[in-house]
Order: sequence, then structure tokens, then C-alpha cells
Amino acid sequence: TVVSVSNLARILDMRQKRMMQLMKNWGMEEVKPDLLVLSSEDASLVAVELGFNPVIDDEAAFDIYPDAPPAEPSTLPHRPPVVTIMGHVDHGKTTLLDTLRSTSVAKGEAGGITQHIGAFSVPVGTASENSAIRTITFLDTPGHAAFTAMRARGARVTDIIVCVVAADDGVMPQTREVLNLAKTEENVELVIAINKVDKPQANVEKVKNALLAEGVQLESLGGDVPSVEVSGLTGKGLDDLIETISTIAEVADLRADQTSKAEGYVLESKVDKGRGPIATVLVTSGTLQPGAAIVAGTVWCRVRQMMDDKGQFVKKASPGMPVTVSGWKELPEAGDEVLQAIKGEDDAKRAVANRKREIEKRKILKDVEKINEVRKAERIEREEAALAEQMGVTREAHEGKQEQGQKELRLVIKGDVSGTVEAVVGSVSGIGNDEVTTKVVSSGVGEVLESDVSMAEASNAMVIGFNVKCQRSVQQQAGKLGVPLYFDDVIYRVMEEVRKRASALLPPRI
Ligand code: GDP
Repeated sequence: TVVSVSNLARILDMRQKRMMQLMKNWGMEEVKPDLLVLSSEDASLVAVELGFNPVIDDEAAFDIYPDAPPAEPSTLPHRPPVVTIMGHVDHGKTTLLDTLRSTSVAKGEAGGITQHIGAFSVPVGTASENSAIRTITFLDTPGHAAFTAMRARGARVTDIIVCVVAADDGVMPQTREVLNLAKTEENVELVIAINKVDKPQANVEKVKNALLAEGVQLESLGGDVPSVEVSGLTGKGLDDLIETISTIAEVADLRADQTSKAEGYVLESKVDKGRGPIATVLVTSGTLQPGAAIVAGTVWCRVRQMMDDKGQFVKKASPGMPVTVSGWKELPEAGDEVLQAIKGEDDAKRAVANRKREIEKRKILKDVEKINEVRKAERIEREEAALAEQMGVTREAHEGKQEQGQKELRLVIKGDVSGTVEAVVGSVSGIGNDEVTTKVVSSGVGEVLESDVSMAEASNAMVIGFNVKCQRSVQQQAGKLGVPLYFDDVIYRVMEEVRKRASALLPPRI
């Protein structure tokens, strides 16, 4: 853990300058206001010197961690496979999912209405009654993009990829992408669904040969990749698809503990009119129940109600089961890992607080790094100038050269959401001419912080806050350091201000 000097000064109720002076006296490295980040050890040293009695808080490192996988998974109960449907655009992914979803209702509880919650369960039919697999979980968002977005966030939920290939169209660019993905993903099985076989133009043999040419060894041609012929439109072959998936799942021997604390992933989240923030959680291990305290990213939730994909309230969600969970304090993000705090709410809150702090800390460290880079560049520039002077080039000449060169208005931009930050950066970046240009040295989401002002000071920039505020202390700091701050919530006015300041950099015209 680290703490900035300015924060420490605030906590110890002491003027920062004074503290810096004392630290210098004690022989701690020479420091410049607001930039220094102290380790918890150094910070506590400072506190001790100042007559305080600090406690290093090990709790600050507290987080919730996933359970280690059990030693003997073969004794655990089976879990449903999780399937993602992918394939080229228009090859029938959505239609196939729709038909599968309606089958699930027809065969499942009477009277259920399908809900789009990000995933749904399909019962395995009578043909495989002896199967250890009773249901299959389909992720409801088709396609490569959804899969890679989840994977990019570390969410690894898919066991089986069904690659849909239209029998009247064959192997297309996105088909190849899916085949490559299936090849590189560990522990993911591939099934080929040759779709639209109801069409007169369907040519299954041609598709099979094309797949072979792509290096896919189909079972029907002596290889090990199963394929089924289906029509998402008529429902033909879907039983076959279900059975093929359940066979693969059985061979893969997918199992999960149902008694441990609940773990899973957020598939979707939104604010519901009646229920507030809700999120679909796919449970991957353990059993989720109302009352449980869970954490996802930097958000926690005391599970109020759980609803399944048929719109029924449920009291238990076991591995493989997708449920919408209400009771979130804020909206979690799709792809977030969900973990249950075994000791309840307090642990959940503590973990969330620590995670937030960790993110802020990383941000500060990154800013400090950037500031140091700017400083280094400036030092090199100064050294080069000095060297040039030594070598007989007069200072005037050097400065003269700079005068002739372009002037630059540097900006540090903060905004309320990433979209507006991008918009502001985009609209001010174009401002300038061959005499003066603008350069954004740093930009980010959130209120204007001390680190932003420090950044601006180091790089001789001004700070623009778009639809955000800053604390009084930050304002004071900016005043002290002579860093201009500008706040507004109209892009047009921001552009005006930037134009004004940029032209002010130019020498007066005669
Ligand atoms: P996606 O882009 O892969 O999700 O494809 P869609 O499910 O949206 O289907 C694209 C088009 O193909 C739509 O017009 C569907 O009606 C049609 N389609 C999908 N599956 C079948 C099928 O099995 N048979 C026939 N004849 N048409 C299909």
C-alpha cells in the first residue's frame, strides 16, 4: 500500500509544506509537493516522527478469493456444459438460439415465459435419459465479439463452441475466425452445426469438404470433430445437436462443487424499473442463495431475489444455472467475476473498498510515472541546451530558434465519462495553426485530482474539467502552483477557451 504525501499531511492534520520540510530534515529523499508516494512503512515512519502511533492496516489488503479447486473433482456432481453459438453473419445463430429457447420452455415448466437474461437452460431429451448431463446452458448472445469481450475480461465460461455454417453459403471469413478461436482456446470443444439444411440450395457435402480444407477433421470423415445437420428455422436436427453436446460434455467430465461458496460470472447487467440494478449471474461453482453477500468487480450485493430464465423466482442457483440477481448497490459489469463473501456483508464491503483503493493507487502510480517521464524529457532538453551553449552556440541563438518554432498549448483533460473525454480530446486536438498547436498530455475519467494538477504543472499545461468538479484543496494547490483550471460542460465553450488561450501564446501582432 502507498499513500501520497498530501494525503498523509491531511490525515495528520499538518501543512504539507511543513511536512515536506521535516522529511527533508530527516534525510528522506528530496521531494516535490504532491508527487511523492510513500510506502506504508515510510508513511508510518513519518507519523512516528511526528508523535503519532500508526497502525499498519493489514486489513487494507483484504480481498475475497476464489476457492481452490477441490483435490478430487471426480467425486463431485456433474454440472451442465456451457455452450456459445458462433459463426458467420446470417448463418443462423440468432434463429437457432430462438428455437432452442422456445424448446426449453415447451419441455420445461408449464406456463413459463422465456426471458432474455443472457443465458438459458435446455433440458436434455429422453433419448439420453441415462446421461449424467440433465441440462445444457446456452449463452444467449451469439457471436465472436461477445465471447472475446468476456475472455478479454478474464471470464472463461464456455465449454463448447457450436460453429454454425449455413449449408447454402459454406465456410466464410468469420467461420474461419471461429475455427481458429476453437483451436487456440484451451479446454473448449468444437461442434459443427451445418445449418439451413431445409433450403433447396443446401449442399452439405460441399460444406464438409470446405471444412476439411480448413483442417477440420469431421467425425463423419474419420476425424474427431462432431457435426450435425440442422435447421434453426424448422427445428430439424436440434435433438441431434442437444445429444451431441451432452455426449461431449459427458466425455469432458464437467463437474463442480455445489456445497462451497458461490462463484460465477456476470453475463449482463441493467437497471430494472422495479428491481433496481440487476445482473445475470452464471454460477460456475457452489450454490447461490438469497441473503448471500457477493462481490463483482468494485460492486457488492446482498442477494435479494433470484429469477431464472423462465421468469420464475428461485431459492437456489447451482453450477451452470443462469439467474438474474437483484440487490446490487451499483451496476456490476458483464464479465466481472462473482465471488461470495463467506463471512457476509462486512467482508464484501471491505473487499470492495480495498479494490477501489487499489485502482486509485494504480492510477496515482501511473500518473507519477508519466510526470517523471515529462520531467526527464525536460531535463534532457535543458542539458542539451546547456551543451549547445558550451559548444559555442549562443543562448540567444538557441532561444531564437525556439521562438521561431511552433508554440504549444498543453492540456490535461478530465471528464465525467470516457465517451465525453474522447469527444473533448478530439475537438480540442484539431485546434491550432502553423504557429501554435494544442497537445493533450493526459486525459482521463473522474474529477480533477491533485495528481492532475501536478501533471499539468510538470508539463506546463492547463487543466480542463468537463462536467466534473474538483475539491477545494485541489483548487488551492492549482492556485499555489499557478496551474490554470477551466471547468465547463459545453464542448463549444471549451473549444473557445482553448482557442483563446492558444492565441494568447502568440506574440502580439504589429
Ligand atoms: P445470424 O446473423 O447468424 O444470427 O443469423 P439469423 O439467425 O439472423 O438468420 C439470418 C437469416 O437466415 C434470417 O433471415 C433467418 O430467417 C434465416 N435462417 C436462419 N436459419 C435458417 C434455417 O435453418 N433455414 C432457413 N431456410 N433460413 C434460416
